[in-house]
Amino acid sequence: MSINGKTKIIAIFGDPVEHTLSPAMHNAAFAATGIDCVYVPFHVRPDNLGDAVRGLKAMGFAGANITVPHKESVIKFLDGVDVEAGRLGAVNTIVNEGGALIGYNTDGRGFVRSLKEEGGLDPDGKRVFVCGAGGAARGIGFALSSAGAAEISFFDVDKAKLGRLVDDINGAFGRTVAVAAGLDPDYIKERGLVVNATPLGMHAGDPRPLPDGSFREGQIVYDIIYNPAVTVTMRQAEGAGARVQNGLGMLLYQGVLAFEHWMGVAAPVETMREALLKGLQAKG
Ligand code: NAP
Repeated sequence: MSINGKTKIIAIFGDPVEHTLSPAMHNAAFAATGIDCVYVPFHVRPDNLGDAVRGLKAMGFAGANITVPHKESVIKFLDGVDVEAGRLGAVNTIVNEGGALIGYNTDGRGFVRSLKEEGGLDPDGKRVFVCGAGGAARGIGFALSSAGAAEISFFDVDKAKLGRLVDDINGAFGRTVAVAAGLDPDYIKERGLVVNATPLGMHAGDPRPLPDGSFREGQIVYDIIYNPAVTVTMRQAEGAGARVQNGLGMLLYQGVLAFEHWMGVAAPVETMREALLKGLQAKG
């Protein structure tokens, strides 16, 4: 790579940001496509977010990714957001469109694209169970609703958060697509797609978020955790004959969609996947 006066720059802002695999994924993609661009992480604390976003514009960056904890608070510093990011109230991708900073959200759409391309499942007309109602579940819920899911049942230990998410989705889509559910294994077992969107499974010895008896053959069980590659939920579901998928595809396709927003060309998906896998291996 040779950096010159024409090299475009994409940033990622987070607090913390040291752990991110996105620079490896996007810099590999730029190298593979011959695009003269670099992707650089910046540790931006909440108090400095406004200045950092103004800096993107002042220095003519091509765009940015926004990660925890800035996805909601960044919106007030932007010139506009697309419909989906506006509905969600969260942005993970900024594109510098001729001097205007426009926000997008590719997290939930990344999940749906991964589901279609890797899991072979189109959520149109399907009934889904999502365990968790936090930030990731919110993106997934809105994207599944946009993709035509017939019903999405959410469970969360935080009942206020659960109620807000269900109301927000139904309000945005003008129909009852989201419902609050309990943890009844017979009910969960009837759903064609089950998603773990809680952090349970990231650490050895974590309890199971979903009860035994929730899984069956012909079901897809998607755990959005990608490290470790196999979680307690995936083992449980696989034991009952379900097809399982981890969160690497969601991480990959949110990046693929962001790349396509910035560059306007198809992303080199397999190069990006390899870079992510290599980055994960290096972390051990
Ligand atoms: P979050 O905002 O903290 O949401 C997690 C939610 O799950 C919280 O509301 C939490 O409630 C709830 N919860 C915890 N234990 C539960 C249980 N036993 N049953 C039901 N709900 C429970 O976190 P997030 O940002 O959504 O992330 C969730 C997970 O997804 C993390 O592991 C993260 O690494 C992963 N993730 C993956 C991707 C990807 O690209 N693959 C993207 C984003 C996130 P409390 O707050 O009350 O504990």
